[in-house]
Amino acid sequence: MLTAQWMGTKDVKVVEAPVPMVTDPQDVVLQVTSTCICGSDLHLYANAIPGMKSGDILGHEFMGEVCEVGPEVKDIKKGDRVVVSFDIGCGCCYYCNKELYTSCDNTNPSKEQELMYGHRSAGFFGYSAMTGSWDGGQAEYVRVPFADLNCLKVPPGLSDDQVVLLSDILPTAWHANEMGEVSKGDRVAIWGAGPVGLLAAHCAFARGAERVIIIDREEDRLAYARERVPNGKVETINFKNKKPYEALRELFPDGTAPDVCIEAVGLHYTTSWLHWFETALKLETDPSEIVNELIQCVRKGGRIAIAGAYAGYANHFAIGAFMEKCLSMKAGQTPVQRYWHKLLRMVEEGSLDPTFVITHRPPLSEASQAYRMFNNKEDGCMKVVMKPTK
Ligand code: NAD
Ligand code: ZN
Repeated sequence: MLTAQWMGTKDVKVVEAPVPMVTDPQDVVLQVTSTCICGSDLHLYANAIPGMKSGDILGHEFMGEVCEVGPEVKDIKKGDRVVVSFDIGCGCCYYCNKELYTSCDNTNPSKEQELMYGHRSAGFFGYSAMTGSWDGGQAEYVRVPFADLNCLKVPPGLSDDQVVLLSDILPTAWHANEMGEVSKGDRVAIWGAGPVGLLAAHCAFARGAERVIIIDREEDRLAYARERVPNGKVETINFKNKKPYEALRELFPDGTAPDVCIEAVGLHYTTSWLHWFETALKLETDPSEIVNELIQCVRKGGRIAIAGAYAGYANHFAIGAFMEKCLSMKAGQTPVQRYWHKLLRMVEEGSLDPTFVITHRPPLSEASQAYRMFNNKEDGCMKVVMKPTK
């Protein structure tokens, strides 16, 4: 079968690999019909997450048709069309029982994360030895463990484009809003005009937010946000032209500030000599400075939600402002299975339509070029959904 494999920094190749089989009684094997590239894959592409090995199969956002079923799987049948969660829960540990599936105790045997962070996260598909070395779904076939928990059956009336983002970024956008407790009348500022930031804006409007402001440096992406986010009018700030704090003060002439600030950037990298030069000139901030920027920009008593993915450490946390402004902050990998039934209903009813972020649908055989395009934001690329079936 064809697979997209990580070979090293900025090196993804399409390589043949053996078709996986059911190896545990709770597994299914899926024939993949749609498989996305995520901003989180760009962290692997840049070699910023420890534990990747040459030949690892990538991909954690995918769906398809079940073609083999283990003897202990109860609800999923051969021929079912399912979306798979990027996070792998076991369904029966202390954390899964609290719907904290990204903290599952039984799907990530790696010791490295425990050493770094004190505890291990759950296993994630296609995401390095740090999260369990699970083969990913940028492939024609993939093995899914604990299938009853990690597969969501989808109705035939909905297209792959409408449901595939339930595997990660639609629940992530919703989770960011949950962490920030976004509700009716809130003013929300979102850092990052990538697919996660745009879907976070869409979800904020669906929850009744009064204003949504998106901050980025990519003018094309900011225009995309203004023109394409359904169910509301996004306002934008280009931080190359003005510091977000100053721009937000102008957008809130009554002297208040956003009730909620959402971080949808995470680790980020220079992609060209020009960007390297900008970094040197301090036009771009370092990761710890983004979080401090949120602390600076949110209103007193406001809420901060960090959806962007980080690894390791960021220094100089603005604890003084955090304390004096009486803020709250939550962060985390999204427990997808907690939200996906509700979000599927919202997609069916039409109150959410995540398809507006999808711009490219290349075959899996073009994964190398697709990674380059998404990483370099070429050709108006927002979200890539690859098609493994010939
Ligand atoms: P993306 O790379 O397409 O978008 C990130 C955007 O941030 C880019 O448009 C970039 O120009 C912008 N940016 C860079 N520096 C910035 C700054 N200082 N201020 C404002 N914007 C800045 O990625 P994406 O697919 O939208 O994902 C966003 C983040 O969400 C990634 O870090 C990804 O790993 C993370 N993520 C987290 C979860 C989770 O479960 N928490 C799930 C999926 C993705
Ligand atoms: Zn993802």
